[in-house]
Amino acid sequence: MKIKEVKAFEVDVGQLRARHGGARRDRGQGPSYAWEGLEPASPMARYQEYKGSRSAWSATWKSTVCVVTAEDGTFGLGISGLAGPVVRIINDHFAPHLEGEECMATEKAFDMMARTATPFGSHGLASFAISAVDLALWDLKGKIEERPVYELLGGPQKERIPCYATGFDYEWYLELGFGAVKLPLPYGPVDGAEGLAKAEEMVASVRDRTGPGVDLMLDCWMALDVDYTVRLAEALRPYRIRWIEDFLMPEEMDGFAEVRRRLPWQTLATGEHWYMPQTFWHAAKRRLVDILQPDPLWAGGISACVRICYLAEAAGLEVILHGGMNNPYGQHLSFAMPAITWGERSGGVSPPGVPLSETVSLPGTAVIEDGFLVPSDAPGFGLELDAAWLESI
Ligand SMILES: [Mg+2]
Repeated sequence: MKIKEVKAFEVDVGQLRARHGGARRDRGQGPSYAWEGLEPASPMARYQEYKGSRSAWSATWKSTVCVVTAEDGTFGLGISGLAGPVVRIINDHFAPHLEGEECMATEKAFDMMARTATPFGSHGLASFAISAVDLALWDLKGKIEERPVYELLGGPQKERIPCYATGFDYEWYLELGFGAVKLPLPYGPVDGAEGLAKAEEMVASVRDRTGPGVDLMLDCWMALDVDYTVRLAEALRPYRIRWIEDFLMPEEMDGFAEVRRRLPWQTLATGEHWYMPQTFWHAAKRRLVDILQPDPLWAGGISACVRICYLAEAAGLEVILHGGMNNPYGQHLSFAMPAITWGERSGGVSPPGVPLSETVSLPGTAVIEDGFLVPSDAPGFGLELDAAWLESI
């Protein structure tokens, strides 16, 4: 069966969630990503007017939804971010090449998109576009085969996916049944020694409340440099941080090597801002980090992440997808692949008191129960969407 149409739209996923009766992230007791009023540090924190507010400088483009329709009218749906440029890349550049190709030929489609993007770079914006199309194609493939995507990937590999939560509402996360929590770091080099002391105070107080039986991780969202990362890790060593994540600007490959050299005892993770398999190969080859964290919605879709899992497995590294439990794409990948050991639930998790089932954006998405997740076994990614739903977005 051939691809009849590839079409992308700009959609506000937060509004979708509200329209389908779900909770908005801002409902409840304030944003879960602020610690004593401070938002996470960022690469722009060195400029006073942007310090403490990612939204002051982040791109305002909404989400990308891509629909791939087969000749018989069956459709698959993929999502990504940065709709402004990404929708244009899909509709203007990829769609004309893919329409008329075989629906089942995901390898060829991935290869064609990577190659046709080379004149402007296949990493970054183009890999967001590749992701949306690739996810839609895998959804379509599952629907045509009438099998869940995790089976097409050779799974299930595990009975259920153990999950951790990212944010500061750790007491609520533990109540929800999560056994591990990742804290965003509000301090960076611009905060100097005082910031290091406050970071230690923050981690000490959380560790004090959770006790020793909960894994704690720290997400630094590209905000640090080599020296600050080393000083931070040394200050936090008594609190047994499970891993430190995303501590440098993503292109600083030699910086990652230097942190690795200076912190041989600290588990390190990164990759949510790395795109397409090649970067992960270079990182795996040099063992720059212990855990690779591609985002299936950004790094090139299922086809890219499967390659990343294989190379991680060969190198003896773990893969834990960025936001992998936030959507059915990451859920199916994590269920199928041996290299993936845990699932991250981020995006605010849910405000205290609001059940996780109320935060679903895409109908049919499986929900974490008691800290574990089992994906939907419905065809494709199990999304419960019909033509009327598509009309409504
Ligand atoms: Mg992160």
